[in-house]
Amino acid sequence: MVRLASFTFVLLPLAALGYEQHQEPFSALPDVKTPSKSIAIVGAGSGGLAIVKTIFDLPEDVRDGWEVVLYEQRRDVGGVWLPDPPGPLPRPPKLPESPLYPLLHTNTPHPTMTYPGFTYPPFTPLFPSHEYVQQYHADYAEQYNLTGYLRFHHKIVAANWVGDSVEGKWDLEIEVQQPHGPPRPSISRRSFDHLIVANGHNHYPHVPHWDGTEGWLANTPPDTPKREIVHSIYYRDPARYTNRTVVIVGAGASGRDAALQVGQTARVAYQSLTPTNEPTPGAKVVPKPRIAYFTNASVVFEDGTSLDDVDSLILGTGYHFHIPFLSPPHSSVLSVDPHTTFNSTTAPSLITNLRYIFPTHKHIFSLAPGIPPTALAFVGLPVLVANCPSDIAQSLLIAHALANSSVLPTHAQMLQELVEREDKLRAAGLDPYYVGHRLVAESESDQDYQDGVVQYLKDVGAIPEDGKKFVEPWRRLGRGKARLLARAWQRAVQLGVDREWLEGAQTEEEWADVMERLVEWQEAYEEEHGIPEFEDQSVWYL
Ligand SMILES: Cc1cc2nc3c(=O)[nH]c(=O)nc-3n(C[C@H](O)[C@H](O)[C@H](O)COP(=O)(O)OP(=O)(O)OC[C@H]3O[C@@H](n4cnc5c(N)ncnc54)[C@H](O)[C@@H]3O)c2cc1C
Repeated sequence: MVRLASFTFVLLPLAALGYEQHQEPFSALPDVKTPSKSIAIVGAGSGGLAIVKTIFDLPEDVRDGWEVVLYEQRRDVGGVWLPDPPGPLPRPPKLPESPLYPLLHTNTPHPTMTYPGFTYPPFTPLFPSHEYVQQYHADYAEQYNLTGYLRFHHKIVAANWVGDSVEGKWDLEIEVQQPHGPPRPSISRRSFDHLIVANGHNHYPHVPHWDGTEGWLANTPPDTPKREIVHSIYYRDPARYTNRTVVIVGAGASGRDAALQVGQTARVAYQSLTPTNEPTPGAKVVPKPRIAYFTNASVVFEDGTSLDDVDSLILGTGYHFHIPFLSPPHSSVLSVDPHTTFNSTTAPSLITNLRYIFPTHKHIFSLAPGIPPTALAFVGLPVLVANCPSDIAQSLLIAHALANSSVLPTHAQMLQELVEREDKLRAAGLDPYYVGHRLVAESESDQDYQDGVVQYLKDVGAIPEDGKKFVEPWRRLGRGKARLLARAWQRAVQLGVDREWLEGAQTEEEWADVMERLVEWQEAYEEEHGIPEFEDQSVWYL
């Protein structure tokens, strides 16, 4: 009764706005009449596809009668690897659908980026362009018959838990905007037992605040391009920066690519770095320290130097961990507070400080009071990981916990494990609420994390003990030697022998062999000639 009353309250204003509303048909699958368990998944990037596939890998009698629906707001699978639709790029504050830029290539060798058992096609370049990665995700969905569970153009706008720490339901509000449908979206409502969030964390730009930016932006000198400060989510084409003076802020993946590309076209490119950042190797940039503030005329740096001829700033300053449909005003499940003083044990709800969503168990299950842990899970929160295999490791734990919630430790034990992780980070001199989901502590490498998640399932008998680690040795090699492999691959391309290296590689073992041989080839070369001073990025764009 309470829920029906609140539906009426919410739906009336929507009707007044002219939105179409309907309750979704109960079953997403033609042969499921009364699901024994209903599961909503948000996002058809690497993470969302992993969890759908893993659920359907459970034995049939275990998942019998489960209803699984994956909602994706965009037109296809692939998440960040699916380009924006054709047409002009949205201007701030409107966000592009993806941060993808035409010259984007992977910065890790593709055999390390695969779902276990599903390789890239023969002759895929070792560091492929984004088209290959999107196609890989589409092929995966096709190969494992996942497409029937996907609902494109369906955006989750609100998810509210109606229940307590033992039982309840999710009320989802879903905006449906078919490309050739009515001009206004329709709003659907559905309830589900479980919600799995795989919405990615490269969508909500982190834009630092500096004093004086407004005055600087308003005072473009005559006969120069209009001054601008743009986040890398809007970065597309280095040619745009021809003859401009540019400051690239940051040296993460986005700052690095912008430095390499814009360094080639700009009149002068500077790279503003924190004390722990290294300037991007191979980039034609002048290193500068952090920006301190702006005046009407200049960009002033922390060392007191200033630049008065800057035209553009590109902010490779990262993204926020933000899930609007779980947060106010749409929902009260996830509080947003960058300066929160709550911690994992005192948090009255899930909280994001925009770097870290806490408290969670193994970066996966919500430990929020008032919601059972298996009701809300996340795929893809960890940062600095190879996503597809990590998504599968996480999905295995989720799928088994959905099948049998006693696979998980008690709430108190999971909270204790989280506190221990946070203590371990503090002992290593790191602030867990700043580090967030970055896997940085010594015992918490990308691969150790995945091994740990899967080993746990073996230890509790949910999956058989096969005596092997989840992450194969060749994945460790490929990740650990990614930069060396990039130099090897560049050399192979320059010598025109790249296709020869790929000859015959099809299975995981064969791709592993290519990487192992390339490592040897490059190590021998570098032993004799030293590490090339500059990476030649131009080979990426051939
Ligand atoms: C520019 C760039 C380059 C990268 N390069 C590499 C690389 O070389 N190697 C590497 O290992 N990793 C790389 N990454 C990391 C990359 O994030 C992962 O490879 C991976 O693709 C992330 O997948 P995901 O499913 O977690 O998130 P995403 O790919 O972001 O997918 C999330 C999906 O959720 C959907 N969604 C979000 N909110 C809603 C909603 N409310 N309703 C419905 N749908 C919703 C989105 O539309 C999207 O399709 C790169 C990331 C970026 C941004």
